[in-house]
Amino acid sequence: MKGMGVPESAHAADRPLAPPGLRALVVEDEAPLAALVGSYLERDGFEVTLIHDGLQAVTSAREVDPDVVVLDLGLPSLDGVEVCRRIRTFSDCYVVMLTARAEEIDTLIGLSVGADDYMTKPFSPRELIARITAMLRRPRATTGTPDGAEGQSFGELTIDIQGRDVSLGGELVRLTRTEFDVLAALAERPRMAFSRRQLIERVWGEAWVGDEHLVDVHVGHLRRKLGDDANQGKYVRTVRGVGYRMGTGQ
Ligand code: CA
Repeated sequence: MKGMGVPESAHAADRPLAPPGLRALVVEDEAPLAALVGSYLERDGFEVTLIHDGLQAVTSAREVDPDVVVLDLGLPSLDGVEVCRRIRTFSDCYVVMLTARAEEIDTLIGLSVGADDYMTKPFSPRELIARITAMLRRPRATTGTPDGAEGQSFGELTIDIQGRDVSLGGELVRLTRTEFDVLAALAERPRMAFSRRQLIERVWGEAWVGDEHLVDVHVGHLRRKLGDDANQGKYVRTVRGVGYRMGTGQ
């Protein structure tokens, strides 16, 4: 039944749906909240697994191989920070971390836990799902490089945008989807200095609202993985008073 004239239905028509066949892991010990988030994801076509415990979340992430993990910070047996670190050793899935207080986000950013995005409770499940689906509509990593696509080089760094591969001195660098997207956005216009807001719009989408220092988190991870200095990278350069631009690696 379409529910004619019901605002919910009108909104649903505009809502960006996730591509089919995606798997979501919802890790939250407050069972009603887990169920609520899960039901929103299911409505958008996700195959959902609900987990209420940290250690179980890591095991389940290995089994399910999720595309997205909604991860609460405070969990029994293993906290969200450690769960995220462990999941990151084998998966580049999209991780949204839920925190009870906005101040916790700064701490988490400092800890470099590897989450892609953060939301503070209480949050709107609709906004959470909108962020997830907007992100997952971006192309996934593919295997191999299409014939003739050589990729862009910046010193020792080579970025194959099509294949979503990054190598440094011939060695493949394992990046999360968000890290890759930030790097690719910079590399696509190597002479342009991007503000944090511009990078947010390119990578997270124009509708994204939140602390723009999220960009700095991902730049920090990128620099670490590219063997760069934490404060001023050769490849991802800080442009004082503006934001970031691609460097040549010199
Ligand atoms: Ca909790």
